[in-house]
Amino acid sequence: MSTNPVALAAVAAVMGLVYGSFLNVAIHRLPNRRSLLGRSACPKCSTPIAAHHNVPVLGWLWLRGRSSCCATPISARYPLVEAATSVLFAIAALVHHDDPALLAIAIAAILVMVPAALVDWELAILPHTLWIAGALTLAGALTVLDPDLAARAWPYALVTLGVLGAVALLLPMGIADAYLLSLAALMVQWRIGYVLITAALISLLLLAVIARRHRNVHGLRNTGVPMVPGIAASTVLWTLLATTTTVST
Ligand SMILES: [Zn+2]
Repeated sequence: MSTNPVALAAVAAVMGLVYGSFLNVAIHRLPNRRSLLGRSACPKCSTPIAAHHNVPVLGWLWLRGRSSCCATPISARYPLVEAATSVLFAIAALVHHDDPALLAIAIAAILVMVPAALVDWELAILPHTLWIAGALTLAGALTVLDPDLAARAWPYALVTLGVLGAVALLLPMGIADAYLLSLAALMVQWRIGYVLITAALISLLLLAVIARRHRNVHGLRNTGVPMVPGIAASTVLWTLLATTTTVST
């Protein structure tokens, strides 16, 4: 394909802002099993948010992090999620501009893993809707874009689900981690080994952050090891590093 990588990255960056805005809604509503449709409203006084105040990143900066209705502070997480999604989309477009299947996988990874990491970090739960929607959408897209890759990817996902599902039954590991890693295997195939190693390292780093915040180890008993954020960051990283030339078949 003769797509200009920079032009594609610019388009991806703008789309990332829009999708980041949607992910904020998902992060907020999925844990409460609320519909993702319908307008955003002020969390305090329920006043609907004006469209021009809902513009990604700029709306938050313009209002200086407070709602326009009742000046309730709005978390910096909202513009940060939008900016991060935008940057990740642009990187994905730059590195995979000549491979639609790898680009689709990287975009799917960002759209599932960003909300998965944040919802788990805040509430220690993984909404099933997230990984199921991610797996079905990705399976459909791969079958259209690259049937050979899709055929190679499924066995990795199913073996990962079988092995980690069994481990989850025996060890104190959440079944949610097994589901998410199986989706990761669908995305990165044989690189799932790398994903596991990197995920463990990132999760340990996050554990150190939590330990510092709690100032002692006893506070950790309630939180546990933050596996999902580690798996999420690691999966996005390896979908961006993936290249078709190194696939060993
Ligand atoms: Zn308000």
